[in-house]
Amino acid sequence: MGKKLIEFRNVSFRYGDEQPWVLKNCSFDIYEKEWLAIIGHNGSGKSTIAKLMNGLLFPQEGEIIIDGQQVNEESIWSIRKDVGMVFQNPDNQFVGTTVQDDVAFGMENRGIPREEMITRISETLSAVGMQDYLLTEPHRLSGGQKQRVAIASVLAISPQVLILDEATAMLDPKGRTEIMQTVNNVQEKNELSLITITHDLQEVVQADRVIVMNDGEIWDEAIPRDIFSKKDDLREIGLDVPFVAILADELKANGISITKEPLN
Ligand code: ADP
Repeated sequence: MGKKLIEFRNVSFRYGDEQPWVLKNCSFDIYEKEWLAIIGHNGSGKSTIAKLMNGLLFPQEGEIIIDGQQVNEESIWSIRKDVGMVFQNPDNQFVGTTVQDDVAFGMENRGIPREEMITRISETLSAVGMQDYLLTEPHRLSGGQKQRVAIASVLAISPQVLILDEATAMLDPKGRTEIMQTVNNVQEKNELSLITITHDLQEVVQADRVIVMNDGEIWDEAIPRDIFSKKDDLREIGLDVPFVAILADELKANGISITKEPLN
């Protein structure tokens, strides 16, 4: 394992004093350059975790440390430079009138010089396979293409961690496949940690590690193969093991592995 990039230490959170706790004493680490998938049924607390990592929310109990800094009101502006997020709805994420304007926007806010911006626009759009759409207006793109541009816009600001919060949830199967392939490419080629948040077990097959949430608690934390081996228990907490995972298990029994080996 590499260096720890994000640490959750006994984090509990609720949306108000009279509200129930939606995260209960959660502790976990995220390492540099790993792909961590966070999975759980709807309402299990996944998006709340994402918002805590980006300082959109702060925990009432426990602490969150990102790249050595505790997340609080003072540190959040510098931490947000390290944490890029892509959300569920592709239509809510566009700010530019063309694809290239959109990718440029976050860089303009950070005062990146023009020459550098041009290089990064080209590099990041190529990384997500959207290099031929520089001047296209966003409304002409498919859902999958919009999400790929959203990923490029985040990559352009060179974050240390990219979080995709249900980024495929509103896409058709083709769009989902596009995004999962893009995510895989990006993680292999870039020096960043990747956190994918999903309720679809199919999307965790290629992750290095999986955290399973259930009712605000960490239910399990393991490599995908070990998670999938608990099919019946997963069904009890509302998670359906996909055919691909069952197939992976069968192949493994015959000496063929299609999921990643544990990181050393
Ligand atoms: P997930 O992403 O796993 O679907 P969330 O983190 O969105 O789960 O939600 C966890 C719990 O917190 C749910 O019970 C949800 O209803 C509640 N919740 C989420 N957002 C709010 C909010 N803004 N105010 C009050 N409760 C909320």
